[in-house]
Amino acid sequence: MLDTLLELQTRDTAIDRLRHRRDTLPERAALESVRTELSTAATQLAEVTAQREEVAREEQRFDDEARSLEDKAAEVERRMYSGEVSSPRELQALQADVEQLRRHRRGLEDRELEVMERRESFEPAVDALRARVSELESEAERLGAALADVEGEIDEELAGERAARDEVAATVDAGLLDDYERCRERARGIGAARLSGNTCQGCHLSIPSVEAERIRKSPPGTVAHCDNCGCILVP
Ligand SMILES: [Zn+2]
Repeated sequence: MLDTLLELQTRDTAIDRLRHRRDTLPERAALESVRTELSTAATQLAEVTAQREEVAREEQRFDDEARSLEDKAAEVERRMYSGEVSSPRELQALQADVEQLRRHRRGLEDRELEVMERRESFEPAVDALRARVSELESEAERLGAALADVEGEIDEELAGERAARDEVAATVDAGLLDDYERCRERARGIGAARLSGNTCQGCHLSIPSVEAERIRKSPPGTVAHCDNCGCILVP
């Protein structure tokens, strides 16, 4: 019965190793790092795009205003040439209006041009960040798939080990199994270990030779624990 515990221990150790491997896969760390980079790049892209949009809105305002001034100038010109106005003084005043409206429009167009250049100065940064985001997205996708593959392999192995472990566990007395599990929790995964000479193979520390002798001479099935790590000692 105690030897069965060692078999159970072997299975549990294999399961613990697989779980540890699954928890510490380099693919996951790499994926997390790429995701962090991606989130930073996406934030930067959003910021630069927002700045560019703000400048683009300013550009549009100048454009709208310039158009509206040109419409007004054209309307005044239409009146001038419509024949509705015949007084030379009035016609002169209208001509002055047209010139004033067009001067104002040209001023706005100059400012619009400046704003357009400012808007265009954002483009290289926007393009570079877009490319970076897309590159990181592909990388994250690739790493995500690689991680899923490795996880899948480990999960398959784990399922096999767990089934084998359950088969062994089913043959162990319930009380002894509880004892073993409690020991495993206390001794970082070691519930049972071979007593070889005076040494516990669980913690690799020695117990007094009198104690080791007593354990070896006990009737078969007697449960004894290591003084050091507390695991069940199997003579
Ligand atoms: Zn020990």
